[in-house]
Amino acid sequence: MKVRDEHKQRTKALFDRRGFARIPAVLITTQPNIFYFTGFTGEDSWAVLTPRRSTIITDGRFNLQARSESPRSRLVIRKGPIVHALAETARKLRLGRIACLDEEVTLALRQRLSSAVKGVRWQGLSVAPLLELREVKSPSEIAPIRQALAIAQRSFLDILNALKPGRTERDVAAELEYRMKTLGAEAIAFPTITACGRNSALPHARTTLTRIRPGRPITFDFGARVGGYCCDLTRTVWIGTMSARFREIYGVCLEAQLAAIDAIKAGVTAGEVDAVARNVIKRAGYGRYFVHSLGHGLGLEVHEQPALRTASKTVLTPGMVVTVEPGIYIPEHGGVRIEDDVLVERRGARVLSDLPKALDQVVL
Ligand code: ZN
Ligand code: ZN
Repeated sequence: MKVRDEHKQRTKALFDRRGFARIPAVLITTQPNIFYFTGFTGEDSWAVLTPRRSTIITDGRFNLQARSESPRSRLVIRKGPIVHALAETARKLRLGRIACLDEEVTLALRQRLSSAVKGVRWQGLSVAPLLELREVKSPSEIAPIRQALAIAQRSFLDILNALKPGRTERDVAAELEYRMKTLGAEAIAFPTITACGRNSALPHARTTLTRIRPGRPITFDFGARVGGYCCDLTRTVWIGTMSARFREIYGVCLEAQLAAIDAIKAGVTAGEVDAVARNVIKRAGYGRYFVHSLGHGLGLEVHEQPALRTASKTVLTPGMVVTVEPGIYIPEHGGVRIEDDVLVERRGARVLSDLPKALDQVVL
C-alpha cells in the first residue's frame, strides 16, 4: 500500500475506534499525530480530520512543504490567528461538532476554541485510542526504523574504534551524534547518554566532562531518526579489564535480556515479558538494582506505547516495535544496561538491532 493511502486508512481506523465512531471531525494539534495522519512535518499547524479527508491549517512558511508532503489534504493557509482559520474551516465543512484530544489541548486553548469557533460543539476525547493505533507499525514504518538502526549501529561501531582513555563523555557523545548525522540521520532521536564509571549507575545519566578511564563501565544510550522514526540502543562497554563483579552483573543483565526477547510473541502480555527479565535478575540477587521497566514502544516518538512494565495487561500484537532494556545499577559503583529494538511477530520476536553484546565483545 502506498504511504499516502495509508494516511487515509489510519484516519478511517481512528473513526472506527471506541469513542470516535459518531464524531464528525477531530482536531489534532501536535506533531507527531499530525504527521501520522497526514505526512505533514511543519510546525505551528493543526489538522482537522474527518472520516474521508484531512485539512491542514498552516501558514505561508509551510505552504510548499505541505503541498508536497500531504498532496491529498485540503490546505488552509492562514493569515490571522489559527483559531480564526479553524472557525472558517468548520463553517466551510459544516461541522457542528468537533472532538479535540484532552491530552493535547490545554484548558486555555479549550476556552479559546469555544469562544472563537462559533456554532461548534466541542467534545474532549482521550488520546488513548489514537496512541493504540500507533502501537502497531506497518511495513512503511518499520523500514525507516531499520534505516535509523543501520545508521546508529554503524556510527557506534565507528566511535568504539576511536574510544580512548582520557576523552570526556561529552566529547565521545558529540562524536557519536555527529557520525549519525553524517551517515544520513535527519536528527538524533534524543540526547545521547555516555556515562562512565560511577555515572553509569544512573539510569538516565546526563553526559558530563568526566574522563573515560580503563577498567570501568561506559554506557552508551543513543538513537538516530530517519523519516520521522526513531531507534533506541544501549550498550555498556569496557576499556581494558572488567572486574569479576561486573562480569557477573553483565552476565545476569544479558541473560535477563535474552530471556525476555525469547518470551516475546503475539498474545503474551507486556507484563509477562517484564516479569521474565525481572525474575532472572531477582534470582541472581540484583532485583533491587533493576529500577525501571523493561522497555517501551518505539516509533515517531522514542517512548511510545506499549510499556513493557510490571503488571501491564497490554497484549503484544504483531507489528509492535518495542525496546528490551534491562539494567542493573549499583549506586556509587557503576551500572550495566543492554537495549535492543524488537519487532513483535506472530510466533516470536524479530530483533531488529544486532550490535555485539557477548561479554568478550564488550571489553575493548
Ligand atoms: Zn535507550
Ligand atoms: Zn529505551
